[in-house]
Amino acid sequence: LLGDTIGRNLDRAITAHPDREVLVDVPSGRRWTYAEFGRAVDDVARGLAAGGVLKGDRVGIWAVNCPEWVLVQYATARLGAIMVNINPAYRLHELAYALRQSGVSVLIASTEHRGSDYRVMSAEVRVNCPDLREVVHIGDPSWDAMAAAGESLDQGYLADVEATLSCDDPVNIQYTSGTTGFPKGATLSHHNILNNGYFVGDTVGYCEQDRICLPVPFYHCFGMVMGNLGATSHAACIVIPAPSFDAAATLRAVQQERCTSLYGVPTMFIAELALPAFAEYDLSSLRTGIMAGSPCPVEVMKRVMAEMHMAEVSICYGMTETSPVSTQTRRDDTLEHRTATVGRALPHIEVKVVDPSSGVTLPRGTAGELCTRGYSVMLGYWDEPDRTAEAVDGGRWMHTGDLAVMRDDGYVAIVGRIKDMIIRGGENVYPREVEEFLYGHPKVADVQVVGVPDDTFGEEILACVIPRDPADPPSLGEITAYCEGRLAHFKVPRHLRVLDAFPMTVSGKVRKVELRADFTHGDG
Ligand code: ATP
Ligand code: MG
Repeated sequence: LLGDTIGRNLDRAITAHPDREVLVDVPSGRRWTYAEFGRAVDDVARGLAAGGVLKGDRVGIWAVNCPEWVLVQYATARLGAIMVNINPAYRLHELAYALRQSGVSVLIASTEHRGSDYRVMSAEVRVNCPDLREVVHIGDPSWDAMAAAGESLDQGYLADVEATLSCDDPVNIQYTSGTTGFPKGATLSHHNILNNGYFVGDTVGYCEQDRICLPVPFYHCFGMVMGNLGATSHAACIVIPAPSFDAAATLRAVQQERCTSLYGVPTMFIAELALPAFAEYDLSSLRTGIMAGSPCPVEVMKRVMAEMHMAEVSICYGMTETSPVSTQTRRDDTLEHRTATVGRALPHIEVKVVDPSSGVTLPRGTAGELCTRGYSVMLGYWDEPDRTAEAVDGGRWMHTGDLAVMRDDGYVAIVGRIKDMIIRGGENVYPREVEEFLYGHPKVADVQVVGVPDDTFGEEILACVIPRDPADPPSLGEITAYCEGRLAHFKVPRHLRVLDAFPMTVSGKVRKVELRADFTHGDG
């Protein structure tokens, strides 16, 4: 395990590889070497310090992907401040909640994105957030003013601050995706996230030659830990293809920057593979990548490995509360490991499967709640000791809320979330199994299965389908006929909804809560 702070770890890469590239912003064409990046980070850190940011203060970042996001990440770590990641899709109500919940005093925000004016919104939110002293907008005069203010500070200031920092200090508050309910603010230390980034990168074999294309949002741990810290802890390079996910811009960036690694949730890879011009991109520089967040259909994985040249693509499983990754597939794992499992526990992390009601460890091969323990478990939910105590027990085990099986070979298979499991007439139905099956139907492009209330069986099965051809969607009769004789009767959907898109979190997960809530029995 690394005993460094994030700042000291960055300094090692700067010293060892000053002239290698660390950051490339494809939309603006700007690029930084490690030496240049180190100076730019220090400028931002001094600017924040001149504005009064001290160790332990919360600095919010509410911005789409851009180089300044990365600078702020390392600058706040240098100061011992706690960066609060805020989803750039949040609007007034959610933004005010996050700012107040974590007591943010300085907010760094985007200026404009897809027609939204962040200056107007931040002016409105200030009214409700008494602790918020200052708002700085990236790419507007307030950003330059912050940098200029830092020039007044003593050159030795940052080194003096660094000497007071410990790797166990909190450095980051990340809100969970809000897939199952209200987002929770996981508080993470330097030790938590630096080591996780390092070990995830080590498992895929990163070195200073690697160039990592990151279409995933930075505000989420996938981008900022597995991406940014995974890169800098191995002296590799971060490539930003676009401010927010854009399938064509992603593949263009891979081709133009000769990226060796590409990240995404399965729906991003599905969108890239579906581009009409997919075959025209030169993706031959790719070797690996990371897929995480939700299960990947087998057909998609095969195409990613063959047609995108990502033969070594790695599946990661984790959650915000555990920095995030707990299990990961290795370079020489098989297609079966990559699709049926989420790999094995990372070094220094323990994994067990327990009976959710009794807490007793279950035998291998039996489904139960996955629990994880190790350096990666968060310090706690910010200012919510009761919710922390519900999630992390006295033995420091994180109760994930996910259902999993530990196989005989030590690989972990995720069966679903406890909250999503359907109980129909006393039978347990795992949505993922039915989804995998329906994915094979020729008229189905994508599918989600949820339980909806039923007077007779308690719950019934609703399939929500995005058709391949919107003009020719499958009927409920076609779906049931397809299942007949191939799926146990109690797993066959009794209701069908045809949709253009699923309600998603910005980190790319389907909000099943909404699919359930929107259902009315007239639907089919
Ligand atoms: P909330 O906790 O607010 O409801 P969330 O759990 O989706 O939202 P995250 O911390 O972003 O927030 O996501 C962690 C969850 O994502 C895990 O608990 C698990 O359910 C799911 N997950 C992560 N990786 C994988 C994977 N490789 N395969 C299947 N599911 C995964
Ligand atoms: Mg969660």
